[in-house]
Parts: sequence; structure tokens; C-alpha cells
Amino acid sequence: MSSTTVPDMRQSASIDWESHLAPYAASSAQSRGRRHPEPAPAARTEFQRDRDRIIHSTAFRRLEYKTQVFVNHEGDLFRTRLTHSLEVAQIARSVARNLRLNEDLVEAVSLAHDLGHTPFGHAGQEALHDCMRAHGGFEHNLQSLAVVDQLEEHYGAFDGLNLCFETREGILKHCSPENARQLGDLGERFLLGKQPSLEAQIANLADEVAYNNHDIDDGLRSGLLTLEQLDSLSLWRLHRDAAVAAFPSLAGRRLIHETIRRMINTLIVDLIDATATNLERYRPMSLEDVRNAPPLVAHGEAVAAQALELKRFLFKNLYRHYRVMRMANKAGRIISSLFNAFAEDKRLLPPQYQVDDPQRQPRLIAHYIAGMTDRYAMKEYRRLFVVDEA
Ligand code: MG
Repeated sequence: MSSTTVPDMRQSASIDWESHLAPYAASSAQSRGRRHPEPAPAARTEFQRDRDRIIHSTAFRRLEYKTQVFVNHEGDLFRTRLTHSLEVAQIARSVARNLRLNEDLVEAVSLAHDLGHTPFGHAGQEALHDCMRAHGGFEHNLQSLAVVDQLEEHYGAFDGLNLCFETREGILKHCSPENARQLGDLGERFLLGKQPSLEAQIANLADEVAYNNHDIDDGLRSGLLTLEQLDSLSLWRLHRDAAVAAFPSLAGRRLIHETIRRMINTLIVDLIDATATNLERYRPMSLEDVRNAPPLVAHGEAVAAQALELKRFLFKNLYRHYRVMRMANKAGRIISSLFNAFAEDKRLLPPQYQVDDPQRQPRLIAHYIAGMTDRYAMKEYRRLFVVDEA
């Protein structure tokens, strides 16, 4: 009788999940830790645990009904912040795996990077920042950090998700010196001019690759962008011509997809190649070396120029399109009307957002509004301002 060895799953705690990583990768075992110390996880790495906590969070589920360019009710096929975050994670993982970096960490950072976004994308954030100007302002990166550090209510032992330092560092992409000074070791790099991990740098650039490409797709789908306009873009022309050369009869949506997938692929491969070149030049031997080097995750010069052209094209033709501006304007008015109504009379707020301290009250209003989905904000607006709405 032949005997087969069945792996003992109870040994998984002793498996070295990260032995394949490069010396400059972030490692779970050497994490700077969590704010509230916890026992090591039994069957996964610390960064995997962070990823899992993010996926199970309430803020993550809300991303389904939050948008960047198009408002949630405008159509079922446009990207939401949820599908955007999944696309960012996919791109970031591809890059990280090729460079032997920590995929669990890039995935955690990518999935969490937009958790603090207000409803209605940038228009919502600007409006809320205006309302909060006299009370410390509103910044979506800091809000994402507030979500994972304080606002999620899931665990008995602590507020927030109690994520590792490296994950929190990746979430906090930008930070003003004033805010950095209040954040202790997390804010230090903004004051000292140091870099975050390569994993955080990758998640940041993967964000751009994702939205530049999906905004072209959504822009065409919505009819706000036309194929004729895109002819002015070198990156688009190059890949559309290659797609037509490979499939001469291709047209319509399929040609658009075939072109965009080639654009995304080119940007990812370029990101890997150019970053590998930078790593060879600077030869970091540890995460500490990465922190002291200039930013190492980057596109090559030629592709960086094409990506910049693409970004400018979208800004001019999509983000400033009059139909987008109308919605953005309406969104801004919804956000500031909500804020002002709550600020004038805190009794309109759900009880958990009411405090006796007038200094703290504006921040709680901002937390309440930032947590709203697009459709919840519209509903709340009707509840407050439309007479026959309960
Ligand atoms: Mg994003």
C-alpha cells in the first residue's frame, strides 16, 4: 500500500512565506508593528492580515457606491472606487511580483488607498475641504488613515483596523508638514524628505496607470470623449494602430478594449523595467536604503512623457467637460449644504456624531459626510431640504 504524505496544515505558522523576497522588500517579520500589539497571526503573514481586515471593513464595501468622475447613478458600467481599487491592486501586484517585492503589502495598500474618499470624487473632497478650512481642512489621504486608525468599529480590543506601520505609511501618500508633525513616526518621512517602501511607491503609480486608462474607457462609454479626440494622443495612436494591424476588421468596443489593454500592458512593463534599472543603479540592500534613496519606482523617460500627455488630455477633455463640471458643481453644493446644516444645528446629526465639544464637532461632521456614498449623500440632502421627504 502506498502512503502519501498529507501536509500538516498546523505547521503553516512556521512556513516562511516571504523567503523569495528581495533584500529591499518590506517584510512582515520585520514590520515596525501595530499601534496595539497583537499575537502573530496563525496562518498568514502580518500584511496578509492587513489585507484581509481591509476587505472586511465597512469603508471598503462603501467604495462600491462612491465614484471619481461619474456619479454612481449615471450608469452601471462605469468604474466605481471599488472596481478602481481592485484594478489598482491587480496592476500593483503584477509590478511587485516581478521585482520580488511584497505582494501582500502592495495589495493591502492598493485596496485601502481610497477608503477616505468623500462621495462625488474630487468635487466632494474640495467642497468638504472648503467647509473645514477653519478647522484643520480635509484631506482624503489623512481621512483614509483616520478610517483605518480610528473610525472602523470591528474589533473588541481597539478602534480602527490596527494595521501595520508599513500599510499605514503606504496609505498616507501625501501630508502637509503641519499634519506630519502631529503624526509621530508616520509623519517623519515628510519632514525628513525620505521615501516610503517600494511597495507604497508601486501602489501610488499603479493608481495612476489604473485611472488614466479606465477614465479613457469610461469617457468613451459615456460619449464625453470621442475616438477622433483620442487621435491626438500618441500613446493611444500607437496602440490602436498595433491593434488594427493585428486584427484589421476590429471595430467598436472591442477595438477600444484591445487598444486599452495594450496601453496598460505597456505601462506596467515599462514600470517594471525602469524600476529594475533604478534598483541596479542604486543597489539598495535593505528597506532602510530604499527610504534614503530618491524615489526608485518610476516610468522610463519616453513612457513618462506619454503618460503625462494622457493625463493632461483627460484633464482638459474629460474632467473639465461641461457635463462633468455641472455634476461636480451640484455635488459641491450638496456637500456644503449638508455640512452647513449640521454645523448650524448638531441635533440634525445621528447621535453618535454629536459631541458637546464645539472644537471637535466640525471634524465629526466631516467624518460623517466623508463616510457617505454618493447615493446616501443625495438621500440625506433630500431628507434635510425637501419638504415631503422623510
Ligand atoms: Mg485611486
